[in-house]
Amino acid sequence: MLIKCFTVGSYETNCYIVTDENTLKCAVIDPGAEAGLLLDYLEDNRLNCQCVLLTHGHFDHTGAVEELREETGAALYMHRADDGVTIGGDYYRYRAPEGTLFYKEGDVIRLDSLSFTVLETPGHTPGSVTLLCTQEGSGERALFTGDTMFRGSCGRTDFPGGSIEQMYASLRRLAALKGDYEVYPGHMDATSLDRERRTNMFVLDAQRSYR
Ligand SMILES: [Zn+2]
Repeated sequence: MLIKCFTVGSYETNCYIVTDENTLKCAVIDPGAEAGLLLDYLEDNRLNCQCVLLTHGHFDHTGAVEELREETGAALYMHRADDGVTIGGDYYRYRAPEGTLFYKEGDVIRLDSLSFTVLETPGHTPGSVTLLCTQEGSGERALFTGDTMFRGSCGRTDFPGGSIEQMYASLRRLAALKGDYEVYPGHMDATSLDRERRTNMFVLDAQRSYR
């Protein structure tokens, strides 16, 4: 799988474009802003964008969704619990547009050799998900954690609908996955699940507080 990261907008959101390199079909995860930049990449590499996958509905992860859909005709997936989510007030509220496909725990979005499995990981928002991506034949495995798990940190839980208890349960859940994964968070640098298991104070605290 080919993973390209664009850090977009004033909130420096990581948008990931994940491509099956054999068929050039791709998924765009969290197109938060700068649609032109994303569309140029698709066009320059002759990529066929099949779907837009949202880790959650905050405006800094969704700002370029409509332009991308209009230009590519891609299907849009998000969790229903984030329809109407906001960081505060109506101005920032995100409403799932017409035609949105709502995914939930255990759903699998297939894109040729790529599979994206939906793990519900609430806490930052009620409808936050982590997308577990594997590729048939390559053994590559990646987690797109949105604003749930960051390198050395985790997402804020003080926005409307946030919950520290749910966040800790979600971090425990991710830490309990078998084996190692590349971790691609919604902000800041990529990491690995093993590194976060060993060094992320929030993950460690989540496990401690549970014992
Ligand atoms: Zn967020």
